[in-house]
Amino acid sequence: MDLQLLEKTLEDQPAFRARQVWRWASQGASSYEEMTDLPAALRAKLAEEVPFSTLELVREAHASDGTVKALFHTQDGRAVEAVLMRYRDGRRSICVSSQSGCPLTCTFCATGKMKFGRNLTASEILDQVLHFRRIEPVDHLVFMGMGEPMMNLDNVLETCRRLPDVGITHRRTGISTVGWVPGIKRLTETDMPIRLALSLHAPEDALRSQIMPVNERYDLREVLAACEAFYERKRRQVFIEYVMLAGVNDGYAQAVQLAQILDPKIYKLNLIPYNPTDSIYDGSSRNAIDSFKAALEEHGLRATVRLTRGRDIDAACGQLAAKTPASA
Ligand code: SAH
Repeated sequence: MDLQLLEKTLEDQPAFRARQVWRWASQGASSYEEMTDLPAALRAKLAEEVPFSTLELVREAHASDGTVKALFHTQDGRAVEAVLMRYRDGRRSICVSSQSGCPLTCTFCATGKMKFGRNLTASEILDQVLHFRRIEPVDHLVFMGMGEPMMNLDNVLETCRRLPDVGITHRRTGISTVGWVPGIKRLTETDMPIRLALSLHAPEDALRSQIMPVNERYDLREVLAACEAFYERKRRQVFIEYVMLAGVNDGYAQAVQLAQILDPKIYKLNLIPYNPTDSIYDGSSRNAIDSFKAALEEHGLRATVRLTRGRDIDAACGQLAAKTPASA
């Protein structure tokens, strides 16, 4: 729902009306009709003038593990994807997009190959969340869909301010970044206790620049310094994402290097099995991942291997490229 348009449409109404509408929407209402404490005439006016969502659902795919991927279009026809992950312990976690496409060109990521569209508005980000909230209660969220959230941080943070109303506390909200240093610094200064995750993927600059061109702009030293400052200020561990690429970043020496640059007090390392996209890379084998993990632990750095979800519907990390049925 376009919250600015909503406020404008309710200008001649008592101030609490917009809050009333938001309360219903944030608790999973699926139409103005349901908002029974609003006068009927006002409900009709809203239905007329403020589309219930800024996004149009184009397609929804359900994976065998319970993961749901939704493809939306914005009003100007941009593709946006979001994913709902259901865990056995009852957790319901949403992965949202902050941009349509992505201007960065990480060589292993499907989104990086898409044409960059634009930053999403806070309402467009929230509407991804509300879509899933209408299906069931949700409690965790990560900005790990399409785009680089730190390049759209105003809208991302505006979204975060509203998430607790939907049932997602700031502590259960995470922003993942390629290492966009100005964004990490701003997140460090916010009052919200949001988690930070860094897509690292390489233990030294030469390799990192090769697979993540953004490293030429903000190198490892600078990125890790920003993460350390975040930790000092917030006292919250930083998650490291490390996608395992066969023969590229999964060698023994690289594990040793990684253990040297990451202080286990500050960082929590997540090894991510590579999800196939049509790229030049192969994912490391299960064996290679286990050996890498053992090498890390031998050098004092604990790591977890991320469970891959939604792979059979191209909803896993790095696979959100808005394939349309025609091109799939
Ligand atoms: N731009 C931000 C937010 C996107 S998060 C960032 O990069 O952190 C998406 C995560 O999935 C990132 O860690 C990304 O590096 C990872 N990823 C990209 N392609 C992948 C693939 N094919 N398999 C597994 N993970 C991938």
